[in-house]
Amino acid sequence: MMFFENDDNAVFVNPVETINLEDIVFGRVSRDFKKYDEESIYFFNTSDYIDVIACKNIKALVISQENAQLRLVKNALNIPVVVVEPKTSFFEGDIITINKNGRIHKNFRVRSKNNAFLVTETCNNFCIMCPQPPKKNDAFQFSDLESRVSSIIGNIDPVDFPETLCITGGEPTMLKDSLIRIIDNISSAMPGTIIHLLSNGRTLSYPAYAHDIAKASRRRILIAIPIFSHVSNIHDYIVQCQGAFDQTIAGIYECYKNSIPVELRVVLHKQTIPYLIDLAEFISRNLFFVKHVALMGMENMGFAKLNRDDLYMDPLDYKDTLSEAISLLKSHAIDVTIYNLPLCTVNNDVMDICEKSISDFKQVYFEQCKSCSKFEECSGFFSSTTEKFSLTRRITPFH
Ligand code: SF4
Repeated sequence: MMFFENDDNAVFVNPVETINLEDIVFGRVSRDFKKYDEESIYFFNTSDYIDVIACKNIKALVISQENAQLRLVKNALNIPVVVVEPKTSFFEGDIITINKNGRIHKNFRVRSKNNAFLVTETCNNFCIMCPQPPKKNDAFQFSDLESRVSSIIGNIDPVDFPETLCITGGEPTMLKDSLIRIIDNISSAMPGTIIHLLSNGRTLSYPAYAHDIAKASRRRILIAIPIFSHVSNIHDYIVQCQGAFDQTIAGIYECYKNSIPVELRVVLHKQTIPYLIDLAEFISRNLFFVKHVALMGMENMGFAKLNRDDLYMDPLDYKDTLSEAISLLKSHAIDVTIYNLPLCTVNNDVMDICEKSISDFKQVYFEQCKSCSKFEECSGFFSSTTEKFSLTRRITPFH
């Protein structure tokens, strides 16, 4: 049996019921009438008292199904109301969009360290283990997207500006100049925030583009770029695109030229593990300037599920290879971290570089974990891990 560490982390909330909802509503969650402004959407949980008269002119209201005043709210108000399950929570300062069917998307979660803007679902790679397979046509209109990002940023209270903000896709550079404007917008509005851009690096091989990204970000950016092998054919096979390796390597060098810090990402599976030591050697000799290398457990979603027979490996079966690759990288003074692997699936010598990396809204644990003394430090599992699509044959709590 699996359990979520925290229900507050959901990014989407389904409604129990909607009343007077005819259009999309966007705004900032408020729990305090003293902070009222025209962008406020009020949230009342089960135990909150509601001053119904004061709510008459507000933009919209989200209310727990078990709030004692729900019937009064329904009868007395003509504003859009979304009724949600009692376990649902929102916090003062969350930015949300309520769709016409009442589904709520938390665009920015004030208490999360994992805020991300998904800017496109298209990609110029087609990786065999992609957890979110790319779509051909993008539903995002670039101009709408830019104004949507501006509205979200504009509604975040400066005291809530995050330390890092992720831009993800698809492949964000598919947006071309629009991405540069979005980065410029974020970095000028939130100068203390580091942008974490997830990219396959290919478009960055164009010198002018890499230069423009560096300038727009005011160099407060980290670009995470995947590399899957030291051999071009193997990398190209994994990303299903001939010539991708050469472009990605050129992109990494353009980042270096423009002083953009790079995190290299290696997803660990049956196609990458046999070459992991060679790849570590390649990185140590040719890409030693990168800020960081992340060795990542695979998420069992999308193509990773579809191609499971060709990809799946129990981390217990590659833990020695992992330790050896890490030792090699460290011996060249390269900073390295393990993402997405539970602590009981790696060797003791690398446990200290395992990060609690799975985004809060996807992170689950198994029943056995409740008794584990390393529960607080452990990344746990992706919520896509099930009995059929298990990550490992053995979970061993520490005592
Ligand atoms: S048993 Fe402990 S180390 Fe293993 S997955 Fe659970 S919390 Fe992590």
